[in-house]
Amino acid sequence: KLHNTILELKGNIRVFCRVRPILPDDGITTEGKVLSYPTSVEALGRGIDVVQNGQKHSFTFDKVFMPDTRQDDIFVEISQLVQSALDGYKVCIFAYGQTGSGKTYTMMGRPGHLEQKGLIPRSLEQIFQTRQSLQPQGWKYEMQVSMLEIYNETIRDLLSTNRSSSTENAVSAKQYAIKHDANGNTHVSDLTIVDVRSAKEVSFLLDHAAQSRSVGKTQMNEQSSRSHFVFTLKIFGVNESTEQQVQGVLNLIDLAGSERLSKSGSTGDRLKETQAINKSLSSLSDVIFALAKKEDHIPFRNSKLTYLLQPCLGGDSKTLMFVNISPEPSSAGESLCSLRFAARVN
Ligand code: ADP
Ligand code: MG
Repeated sequence: KLHNTILELKGNIRVFCRVRPILPDDGITTEGKVLSYPTSVEALGRGIDVVQNGQKHSFTFDKVFMPDTRQDDIFVEISQLVQSALDGYKVCIFAYGQTGSGKTYTMMGRPGHLEQKGLIPRSLEQIFQTRQSLQPQGWKYEMQVSMLEIYNETIRDLLSTNRSSSTENAVSAKQYAIKHDANGNTHVSDLTIVDVRSAKEVSFLLDHAAQSRSVGKTQMNEQSSRSHFVFTLKIFGVNESTEQQVQGVLNLIDLAGSERLSKSGSTGDRLKETQAINKSLSSLSDVIFALAKKEDHIPFRNSKLTYLLQPCLGGDSKTLMFVNISPEPSSAGESLCSLRFAARVN
């Protein structure tokens, strides 16, 4: 009962923290541990402590996943949320964290390791399975996929068939203007939208998008970690016997790396990039914070990302944020920043 009241107060926003395991590349030997998990009953599975300069900082989230948590364990925790998109809800799942903390692993998984596939492929498999199982009850669904990336406050279509670079996009007529209609449907002009009938088709499109991203990568400084990746599945359902209709949206977002200005020591273009990233990430935090506080003015317009997702963040939509954490001691400062960010929206 008490738990329910807390959830109501918080609205439809959840925050899950995931700590990735130590990797061989981290080069960790005898240095001290900076992360620990509280053992108290009430914080079990929800708390995380970070020690920086001898000082302990404690955080509590809706869930904290330890480094040994597997991809299928994670999916168990979000499958209900994914399912609600088929019931007509607008759902957003974000991965936030510094570069190398496991955002893409959480979202997409590890290429070539099927059992380590991430929540995007798992969500799609579940959605298409459910769609099939609802057929006998008269439900018919149409699904549309789009994928884009936001780099320096500019939208880039990842499913466009002409493989133009983002610089060509910038000089072409494509504006990718964002419009929301009265029913809360979002339209992005010139954006490629693909009708999909199976998880396999979407998986093919994901590969295409990954390729478009890596084209940019060589040209633009590991663009993929400097841009937000937005996967959108629109679901239109109609029941042929009851004539009931539903429209849901599932947005899965791999955010740009959250590392701070100071660490990257940026100048010139890199500085502009970092400022754009910081601006859109702090806008996202401002929007979620304002929504949680039920403020009158929600500053959606302050960044492309928040404006694009506006109908999917407010109202009765559902939002889940993964805050991904690197365990190595040299990341303690960034981890603390990420946890503070997440604690603000939680
Ligand atoms: P990000 O997208 O935040 O920059 P990645 O998802 O690319 O980070 O993760 C960095 C590296 O760590 C990758 O090699 C990835 O496979 C590995 N990794 C991340 N999370 C996990 C995990 N939970 N288990 C195993 N390996 C992981
Ligand atoms: Mg990544």
